[in-house]
Order: sequence, then C-alpha cells, then structure tokens
Amino acid sequence: MNRLKEDLRAILRADQVSDSESILEQHSHDESYHTPVLPDVVVFPESTEDVVAVISYAARQGVAVVPFGAGSSLEGHVIPVSGGISLDMMRMNQVLEVRPDDFLVRVQPGVLKDELNERLGRYGLFFPVDPGSNASLGGMAATNASGTTTVRYGAMRDNVRALEVVLPTGKVIQTSSLAPKSSSGYNITSLFVGSEGTLGVITELWLRVWGIPEQTVAARAVFSDVEHCVRAATAIVGAGIPVVRMELVDGSYIAAVNQYSGSDFPTLPTLFLEFHGNRRHVEADVEVAKEVIADEGCTSFEFVTDEKARQDMWAARHHALYAFMHQYPGFGHMSTDVCVPVSKLPEAVLRAKELLSQTGVRGAIVGHVGDGNFHVSMAVDRENPDDLAQADAFNEQLVYTALSLGGTCTGEHGVGLGKRKYQQKEHGDALAVMQAIRTAIDPQHLMNPGKLVDPATTTTHT
Ligand SMILES: Cc1cc2nc3c(=O)[nH]c(=O)nc-3n(C[C@H](O)[C@H](O)[C@H](O)COP(=O)(O)OP(=O)(O)OC[C@H]3O[C@@H](n4cnc5c(N)ncnc54)[C@H](O)[C@@H]3O)c2cc1C
Repeated sequence: MNRLKEDLRAILRADQVSDSESILEQHSHDESYHTPVLPDVVVFPESTEDVVAVISYAARQGVAVVPFGAGSSLEGHVIPVSGGISLDMMRMNQVLEVRPDDFLVRVQPGVLKDELNERLGRYGLFFPVDPGSNASLGGMAATNASGTTTVRYGAMRDNVRALEVVLPTGKVIQTSSLAPKSSSGYNITSLFVGSEGTLGVITELWLRVWGIPEQTVAARAVFSDVEHCVRAATAIVGAGIPVVRMELVDGSYIAAVNQYSGSDFPTLPTLFLEFHGNRRHVEADVEVAKEVIADEGCTSFEFVTDEKARQDMWAARHHALYAFMHQYPGFGHMSTDVCVPVSKLPEAVLRAKELLSQTGVRGAIVGHVGDGNFHVSMAVDRENPDDLAQADAFNEQLVYTALSLGGTCTGEHGVGLGKRKYQQKEHGDALAVMQAIRTAIDPQHLMNPGKLVDPATTTTHT
C-alpha cells in the first residue's frame, strides 16, 4: 500500500494524497447503515488533469477507484468494497461560468447545491433540484438526485445539459453540445447521470438554471387519512396546477415534529405545498388547489406568503427526519425510497402503512408525492441483527409492492450496494444490456466496483 501512496504522490503533490487514519475512516462510509470499508488511500484532485493522471495510473495498475462527493448517499454508494483509491472531488469546487442568457451554468463537481444557489441569486437565477442534504453537484448528477421540487422542475437528468467525463481509460469526453435540444447520437449525458461513479468521473457539469419567480406561496393541507391525502395530491397534478412542491408527511412524523419543536400541528396526514410564478397566476393556482383538495376531504387548509412564515412552515417538513430519530436515542437511521406511477400511489402508501404495523418496524412515511415517490424512514438498533433483519424484510416487501405496481425500487436515492439485489427483478433482460454497457466502458470494472449493476454478492450489515 505504501507503493500506491508513493506512486500517487509522485504523480500529484504530497498533500493531495492521504492514508491518515481519520481521512480513511471518513471515506469508508456514507450516511447509510451499510458496513464501512476503508480505502487504501484517499486522493484529492484539483483539476481534470489531476483526475486523468490518477485514473490512467489506476487503469495501468488495476486499482479500484471510487469517486467521493459530499458522502451523503444512503445506499452505501461510496463504500470502497474492493479497497483502492477514494477519489475525493471536493477540492474541485469552482463555479466556472454563468450564462444568464442561455440559462446555463458551468460548475466543477465539488460545488455544493446551496453554494451554487447563493452564487446564482446575484443573477436572479436558481438551480431547482433539491435533495434533503447539501450534496455536491457531481454526486447529485451521479445519483440522478431529485427532491421536493421535482414535480415542477424535474430531476438531475432533466437539468444537466452536458458533462465533461474522465473515462476509465483516462480519456476526457464532453457528453453533448449546449443546444437546448438535439437529435444527434445516443443520449449519453443521461447515461452518465445516475451511473453512480461506475462509468467514469464527472469533472465538469453544464446545468440548466431558472429565473427566481416573482411570488412564492406555501400551504399546509390536513386530511383525516393517508388515502385522502394522497388522492388529493394526485388530483392537484390531474387538474394541471403547476405546483412546485407537494410533500406528504404522515401523522407519526407530525407528532414527532410537534414534540421536537413545540409546534401544535394536527397529528394527521398533511400535504405541504408550494406554488411559484407571477402574483396573479399564483393566487389563482392556490384558489383552484384549495377547491380541488376540498373535494378530496381536506379538513384544514392554510397558506402563507410572508417569507419568514413560509420558512417556518417548511422547517417542519425539513426537520421531520431529525424529529423522528430524536424519539429513538441510540438508534441508527435506515431510509428506503420507492416510486410508482402516480395513480398507484395511494395503494403503495397504504400497503407501506399496513406493512409497518404488521412488522412492528419503527417507521414513518414522508414523500414527494407529486411524482409518485415516497420514503420510509426507519429507526434501527444497529447492535441487534434481528432488528436489522426485520427492517430489511420490510424494505424488501415494500420494494416488491412498488415493482408489482409498475414502479421502481428507488425513485431518487439510487442503488449503491443496498438495492443491487432488486436489479434483476426490476430490469429483467435489460439488466444484461446495462452490464454490457458497463463492461464496454470499464472492461476492468475498476470504477466503483460492486455497485449499481454489478452482481450483489456480499452482506452489507454490521
Ligand atoms: C438527510 C438526507 C436527505 C436526503 N434527501 C434526498 C432527497 O430528497 N433526494 C435525493 O435524491 N437524495 C437524497 N439524499 C441522498 C443524497 O444526498 C443524494 O444521493 C446526493 O445526490 C449524493 O450526493 P453526494 O455529493 O453526497 O455524493 P456521494 O454520496 O459522495 O456519492 C454518491 C455517488 O456518486 C458518485 N460520485 C460522486 N461524485 C462523483 C463524480 N464527480 N463523478 C462520478 N461519480 C461521482 C459516488 O461514487 C457515489 O456512487 C439524502 C441524504 C440525506 C443524508
């Protein structure tokens, strides 16, 4: 291992290569429950040329490379299961170019989502993709992240115009032109988005950005049961209302939020909504939404336009996970997400609730329900194999439910290690096509081995 470190120090500067215990530990895990594995060495590139040098060396020596962004993924994505190099992209953190007239920005992969929005605010622009963590843009592209605003603005795949990628051979490519549309060639930008570091290293991103709307209104709508709540969400989409955020928070989460933050929201299934646009349109959208959801059994509807009140309302949604975990001191967090066609959402959420009560798993549901996606957060006792096995069994039942309804095993968190075992069932013969693409681009399987479409062979629990 010393040889690996010494070789890399000869290629880059000494301070760009580390095998200190704390740095290795930091790069051995993400935010998931999967068992950490130490890399042999951590490398901090500062330019595309640095990445080319490291990847070319790794290809020659047959060393595995795992790109590492903010490390916030939830399925063991960055765990270096074969050891090798953890390639920390966070020193490549410059916003390189803002093109307001083209609604485009060029960034390095280590720029964090919140930093980008702070910078874009000066131009009256914002980047809409909004996962619940302050992730890096490179990591967000590599996982096809999405979040609360997807129902209006789409996921990363809809907002990445082009990428610069260092392939596993060390060759650098630009995946597409900057034209807003194209019928030329295969769409490999979309192939690299969501590839979880298995096809190469993203070294630059051209992202689509949007004008900051004149008016933003947030609203909270309460329902007597989850079924009505989810049906209301579907009805809003069906009515063609351009809602920007539409989040389901179930009664257990609301109770936890009340206890955690001293609020007194009704402990019933609640939709948190947000509308953007010019004043006149937003007012009309809110009125129509109110009528549509009244027909679906909404028992209380409140909306706020004041910025402070809006932030406070969303704080309840954003703190839901921390509030939920606060109830279980010493327990670990396991999160799963599935996504189904919107019409099947009520059935899927009800089944999740039934499964929670049948299995006794400590869980609560929250979802970006406008796009068919919901999450179940579980509090697990990491020291207790039975508890972990029970949570796993619940997860499996939930995934099978989503698949049987025509959905997917993950709407946004990605596959990593945790959801590899469902890839065959979900994709059938298409999985072999994906594996062939992986092998064509990375014949040695050195890029983030053991993830996404690679066979699931290991147990990943402690
Ligand atoms: C509290 C919390 C809430 C979350 N909420 C959401 C949510 O609402 N929606 C959502 O989508 N996700 C959510 N996540 C998951 C996570 O934040 C996202 O998956 C995020 O996109 C990961 O970005 P990252 O920078 O942390 O990447 P990392 O975790 O560092 O890496 C993720 C993957 O991307 C690869 N990668 C990283 N950088 C590069 C690069 N430059 N080139 C090639 N591959 C690269 C890695 O190898 C790895 O496979 C949440 C996580 C937490 C902890």
